[in-house]
Amino acid sequence: MIKQPHSLSELLRMPAGPTNLDSVDPRSTPGFNGDKTAAEAARAVEASVLSDLQERLFAEGQSGGSRSVLLVLQGMDTAGKGGTVRHVLGEVNPQGCAVAAFGAPTKEELAHTFLWRIRPHAPKPGIIGVFDRSHYEDVGIVRVHDLVPPEVWRRRYGEINRFEEGLAAGGTTIIKCFLHISRDESKTRLLARLDNPHKHWKFKSPDIDERAFWDAYMEAYNVAIERCNSDAAPWFVIPADRKWYRNWAVTRLLIETLQTMAPQWPVADFDVAAERARLIASG
Ligand code: AMP
Ligand code: MG
Repeated sequence: MIKQPHSLSELLRMPAGPTNLDSVDPRSTPGFNGDKTAAEAARAVEASVLSDLQERLFAEGQSGGSRSVLLVLQGMDTAGKGGTVRHVLGEVNPQGCAVAAFGAPTKEELAHTFLWRIRPHAPKPGIIGVFDRSHYEDVGIVRVHDLVPPEVWRRRYGEINRFEEGLAAGGTTIIKCFLHISRDESKTRLLARLDNPHKHWKFKSPDIDERAFWDAYMEAYNVAIERCNSDAAPWFVIPADRKWYRNWAVTRLLIETLQTMAPQWPVADFDVAAERARLIASG
């Protein structure tokens, strides 16, 4: 009998062992049977569930708790990292979120080890931190374009695992999402960027050249996912050709994660009745 996954986390989690992104269809919608309209309706309901859970985590963090969440978003250009931040995190209190985007490193950043610019953005207690690109670029584009010698990037998988284990041990629940888009869909989205003047700001000419390296990127991601896929910092592959599925799936993953963490409203550390009486008497 086939074991039915009981959660989206289980369905989208990349299994341990050899990883092959080709085995996941970017147009598929695992765990969701409806269409775009149904997904958007479902997400509208779930936004309030997410918002409530986030508020509890934030309250916990304000009351001495040490737990936090880190959502790492990786994917090819146009995969929808920015759109995911806008649609999924756009539903929750911005006070409880911290988004960090990692572009090409500055001269100063390059003078340090690759995790130097990442560490300060580890989420503080109570916060949902989001990385729009991350340290995985340092075994992604860096590996594809030989930006450092192989002996340097080869060491990084172990360094990343130790870094992530440290974060997890400190109370951060890590969710790493690879937004899996097809090469054809990426072309369609790049074309849309060219055809709509409001999207020109997102377009860069080298984005077209990078398409020639698509397979090399997939190979780099296969290796990174395989080598850095611990229970402390699991990888999920989100089919991302359909934006509505991507948004629904990441929302669900966050909800499931927070439900497992089960943050509780902090219990008052003062005498509620006495304070109430004092307030009433205060005129
Ligand atoms: P975007 O996300 O469209 O703003 O593009 C950011 C660019 O920065 C992408 O081409 C990334 O691959 C690149 N980038 C991010 N991190 C690194 C890194 N550590 N080394 C080199 N390039 C990077
Ligand atoms: Mg870009």
